[in-house]
Amino acid sequence: MFSNIKLIAFDLDGTLTQHKTPLSNQHKEILDMLSKKYKLLMVGAGMCHRIFNQMNNFPIDIIGNYGMQEAVYDSKKEDIAITANNVVPCDKASVEKRIAKLRQKYGFTNFTGDSVEYHSSGCVTFPILGTKAAPEDKLAFDPNRKKRCKIYEDVKAAFPEYNVFVGGSSSFDMSPMPYNKYFALDKYCKEHNILHSETIYIGDDYGQGGNDESIYLSDFNYLTIDNYEDFPKVVKELI
Ligand SMILES: [Mg+2]
Repeated sequence: MFSNIKLIAFDLDGTLTQHKTPLSNQHKEILDMLSKKYKLLMVGAGMCHRIFNQMNNFPIDIIGNYGMQEAVYDSKKEDIAITANNVVPCDKASVEKRIAKLRQKYGFTNFTGDSVEYHSSGCVTFPILGTKAAPEDKLAFDPNRKKRCKIYEDVKAAFPEYNVFVGGSSSFDMSPMPYNKYFALDKYCKEHNILHSETIYIGDDYGQGGNDESIYLSDFNYLTIDNYEDFPKVVKELI
């Protein structure tokens, strides 16, 4: 199916593991096998160290925060070294105002905790139910994403200086432009002299507003996965 593949890049949550759950031994063994034939790379939405910990310190280079953070695996130290850590300033007053307007417009005026969550990188989360909402309420809010997909274009239009994603169970995640997974993977390929055609990306969040969508819609080779338990099946041909 594919030829001349040099690099396999992965999403983590929902792709290699269940959300926020450690990498299983079975999937680790598959990554070990793949690493004998290909360069492997993580392209995540979270921080590099979070990804590294969740993978039980698996030896792999990691791109975090949609490309804002980069880490290289150091085999001597058996640890990752952060090689880039970009921070983009956030105009909190302006973000707050725009989110208040969206809440008003769509009737999301009841929320628990804060209306907006700010991350040290400059990424922003719009948690529709608030930062302190109960986990069960969050899970029940929009399981098929329909509520958020309906207003996605409007949220995007309100935040032209961000890439907006339908994130988690009841929120929108935003990364400052130009950061998204496509930007991150393209930059990595350029720096390592790897062509898009020599790269395969595997991720579960390729639908509208998903954080893998930018790669899915691009010229990179893409293997979709809808259940992380299918990971062995999805990569079988590559081993
Ligand atoms: Mg995912």
